[in-house]
Amino acid sequence: MDYELYLHIPFCRQKCFYCDFPSWAGQEHYMEAYTEALCREIAMQSSLFAAAGQAVTVYIGGGTPTTLPLPFLQRILRTVQRCFPLATGAEFSVEANPGTVDAAYLAGILAAGANRLSLGVQSFNDGLLQRIGRIHTAEQARQAVSMARTAGFKNVSLDLMYGLPGQTLADLAASVAEAADLQPQHISIYGLQVEEKTVFFRQQQQGRLQLPDEAAAEAMYDYMTGELPRRGFFRYEISNFARPGFASRHNLGYWQDVPYLGMGAAAHSYWDGRRQENTADIAVYIRQVMEGELPAHEEEPAARSLHMEEFCFLALRTVQGIDRQKFVEKFGCTLESVYAPILTDMRAKGLLTVDDAGVRLTKRGMKYGNVVFAAFLL
Ligand code: SF4
Repeated sequence: MDYELYLHIPFCRQKCFYCDFPSWAGQEHYMEAYTEALCREIAMQSSLFAAAGQAVTVYIGGGTPTTLPLPFLQRILRTVQRCFPLATGAEFSVEANPGTVDAAYLAGILAAGANRLSLGVQSFNDGLLQRIGRIHTAEQARQAVSMARTAGFKNVSLDLMYGLPGQTLADLAASVAEAADLQPQHISIYGLQVEEKTVFFRQQQQGRLQLPDEAAAEAMYDYMTGELPRRGFFRYEISNFARPGFASRHNLGYWQDVPYLGMGAAAHSYWDGRRQENTADIAVYIRQVMEGELPAHEEEPAARSLHMEEFCFLALRTVQGIDRQKFVEKFGCTLESVYAPILTDMRAKGLLTVDDAGVRLTKRGMKYGNVVFAAFLL
């Protein structure tokens, strides 16, 4: 069986104003013990799961993995390769913040086994970067891409954002152009969502967050979905664009129901149809693992209907859409037996393409994905 591995590094230098991921600033004193515990968990989990097959992707995310001192991150990279059988040519990604890396650091993670670098750039406008709480400048992002190339990374991804406070279409166009000119293999571009428990949420409550209005955000969306393919990045998922052959295999696995094992504080796993979540508290995580306990608790088994909804949402995010045959194999019934009225309605509205292979979002459906996903709720 093929599976994926995810390793979570919950440290950041500073919390970005929009971020609700499980990551914390000011916890550097835990880094050494956390590295020790994570390597211990990798070994424990491998004794249970490694023999089930091979890992086709490894993703080290966070948080900011590259806030760890290089020897710590190298130790984690090497431990995972020693403990789990990796498929030949497995995709091995590390997320990095441009404000935390230099040439030696990038060469060091490449030497320790990483082969894909995902850089959180967000924008090439310094004013916007400050406004959203990023720790780096546009120039540091440019330098990080250049250093990654020099180090030997042949697969570099850049993250951008749109719909930021004070951002104009011209700002977005300049960032998209600059990102494309740097010739990465992959670009992800996410619309800002204001999540609870973030600085932006508080600012919004206090009336201090001016976001682009709906028409402006829509114009940005239209721009980037037109411009990136024109520049050779094909769209393979709602928010993801890649040069041919460089779609993120790890993310595709999530959207295509591939089992994954998550390790580290707050990591999630999906294995054999069961979901588990590790404790998010760094200190508790370290203590449990060092006492020889697995830090995971099992989530309530998802009801069949919930599993169906999720299977459909995730598959619909990709250009391949829902595979009819896979749906039958998974749930023992046809797509039409559950969703016939929805399929007819969404097709009539020009949001879905329905054929013998399956069901996919149209271009318009990608834009109004939330409307389609809501319709798939059972
Ligand atoms: S660097 Fe990433 S994980 Fe850390 S706070 Fe910013 S967005 Fe969140």
